[in-house]
Amino acid sequence: MLTRISRRDFLKASGAAAAAAVSGCRQFAPASASAPARRWFKGNLHMHNQWSDGEPLPEWAVDWYKSNGYHFICPSDHNIFQTDALRFDGFGFNLPPSDPAAFKGETSLWKMVSPAAGWAKLTRARIDQAAERFGRDSVRTLVVGGQTFVRMKPFAELEKQFVEPDRFLMIPGFEQTGGCPDGRQVHVNFINVREAFPYIAAEQPGEILERTYARGRELYGRDYLFTANHPLWRYYDVSPADLIALPQIRLFELNNNEVTGGFDAHPRGWTPERCWDIVNAHRAAHDQPLLLGMGCDDRHVYDGPAKAWSVVRAANLRAGDLIDAIAAGDFYASNGLDFADIRFDGRTLAVRIDVREEGAHRIQFVGTKRGYDPSRRTVDVAKGPRCPERRIDVYSDSIGTTLATVEGTEGAYTLKPDDLYVRARIVRVSPELQPDWKSRPAAWSQPYR
Ligand SMILES: [Zn+2]
Ligand SMILES: [Zn+2]
Repeated sequence: MLTRISRRDFLKASGAAAAAAVSGCRQFAPASASAPARRWFKGNLHMHNQWSDGEPLPEWAVDWYKSNGYHFICPSDHNIFQTDALRFDGFGFNLPPSDPAAFKGETSLWKMVSPAAGWAKLTRARIDQAAERFGRDSVRTLVVGGQTFVRMKPFAELEKQFVEPDRFLMIPGFEQTGGCPDGRQVHVNFINVREAFPYIAAEQPGEILERTYARGRELYGRDYLFTANHPLWRYYDVSPADLIALPQIRLFELNNNEVTGGFDAHPRGWTPERCWDIVNAHRAAHDQPLLLGMGCDDRHVYDGPAKAWSVVRAANLRAGDLIDAIAAGDFYASNGLDFADIRFDGRTLAVRIDVREEGAHRIQFVGTKRGYDPSRRTVDVAKGPRCPERRIDVYSDSIGTTLATVEGTEGAYTLKPDDLYVRARIVRVSPELQPDWKSRPAAWSQPYR
């Protein structure tokens, strides 16, 4: 039987109830022989549409995921939840009509059609695209003062339109978007909540994370997830040291392949996957719950295939079940491969690849040894053509090493006394295969200890 890792971690920390209280995640029931069979559900908990700065109308975006094999999504628009309150402003836009009385009795967000294309603009092409698929009745427009306004469907209407029991689920949420006065960005997702709150800015990323996390606890209580998003974006903006200092943060984006990468990486800088190991080496050495890694799309533009997602093992396609499973670490991040099984009995991590395409497969067990060098040095990076001025943290190569490699589709690794934790990365071998978080196609199990 699978031992759910974070339960073990939670119990180790200070008792399940107390640990669940600090984690921001709900406590889950232990697996038992009589528990219903659990299945893998594919989902994406980070995406955008015209409720903020994604290109398509909301129904187009939701339909894209439903039509592309996803079981669940969270339409996580920037700093807004899709309620039916009448409004004309949001993230990056404020376009009130010349005659507000024309909207008497109307609800939800209305966005003005832009004559020109460009980032975050609502263009006629997007309206036609949605109207063609869902009908002119579905895409409501109003012409006021010579300007065309389009109504964005609120979450509850999108749910009615797309949700099907056991087939497709929508989880409410939003992305809290902003940063420090010096421009460093700090974004987090609140998942399974129906109300946004004003961004909490501060001088340092760690302070924003800490205060935003605490505000979420006050407002939402339990039954929601908090994820630290794309720490590397735009350029080492959130440091592993910030996540080390905040063990209450249990989830981060390991793969946010939509926005991460548009810069010149520093040769000694950390990657998202190394960030994960840096944080977890510390947490394991200090007997704290480990940081879990999510795969997310953060999709703004809906052309081309998805770049990352998460696959969650749960008994039912229900928000509570999925959140419990994610909080328990029973999920993996993927950009193209799947695990058929992941099992950890407290000592041995055993994984099996779900082979769907011919080719050589490899399993890499990654971890950090006790006695690793935890020291942090800093490097000052001058402003360049593709990077801002930054001070970045540099860590030892003794963190996040390959403990064992299996050429094949099934493998296991038993923790040795000097191992702090172990996780599995699976890849399909090809001449183009890149190392680390850029491996593709690949998938990443959670860390176990
Ligand atoms: Zn973001
Ligand atoms: Zn985003």
